[in-house]
Amino acid sequence: MSFMRPGAGWIEVITGPMFSGKSEELIRRLRRAAIARLRLQVFKPAVDDRFSVDEVVSHSHWRVPSEPVKTAAEILERMDPRTEVVGIDEAQFFDEELPRVCSHLADLGKRVIVAGLDTDYRGVPFGPMPELLAVAEQVQKVTAICARCGAPASFTQRLIPSDEQVIVGAGDLYEARCRRCHEPGGPVHIDERWLFTPDDGKRER
Ligand code: ADP
Ligand code: ZN
Repeated sequence: MSFMRPGAGWIEVITGPMFSGKSEELIRRLRRAAIARLRLQVFKPAVDDRFSVDEVVSHSHWRVPSEPVKTAAEILERMDPRTEVVGIDEAQFFDEELPRVCSHLADLGKRVIVAGLDTDYRGVPFGPMPELLAVAEQVQKVTAICARCGAPASFTQRLIPSDEQVIVGAGDLYEARCRRCHEPGGPVHIDERWLFTPDDGKRER
């Protein structure tokens, strides 16, 4: 076990839209920590049960075991003092205590690796992420591929009409979009009467 001393810890954040490989990158870093024989604990909010309640799983089906927790404070309650590396996925779903909890763990000398969405489907900063990004030592913004045009994508498009901030789901409900293709209000319902073609004016219906 490596020697932990106060001040030796830090916070690193992996952020971007859905499908940008945040979970993959988190799992890659955790695997390397495991190869280095560091003691790990991995957490995710109990709300995200789309694939598995006790594993972090990427869209490409990479996985590591994790503990589901209902609140950020529960991460501290479950913390084994010997743990050297803490992984947290889907951080956007945690309460506003998360930045304080991560800072406390880093103060104790732990390496804290957090993955989460920076913005919601409207492009608005998501939950505790802004404050977490501010207090982290290191931030990596990752991009997906825009499902419309193939450009690097930093936004998450919701494909069904709804005003709820959280509808947990994957491929069928959301896709990655670039800034140009992102429709922040959700899918736009085009009134077909307003679709014109160049030669005949109003389109035949
Ligand atoms: P995140 O945690 O950011 O939602 P994941 O790590 O779960 O992302 O999944 C990333 C994987 O999703 C990619 O390696 C790729 O296999 C797949 N994928 C599906 N759609 C896209 C897309 N539009 N852009 C990039 N990767 C995609
Ligand atoms: Zn695009």
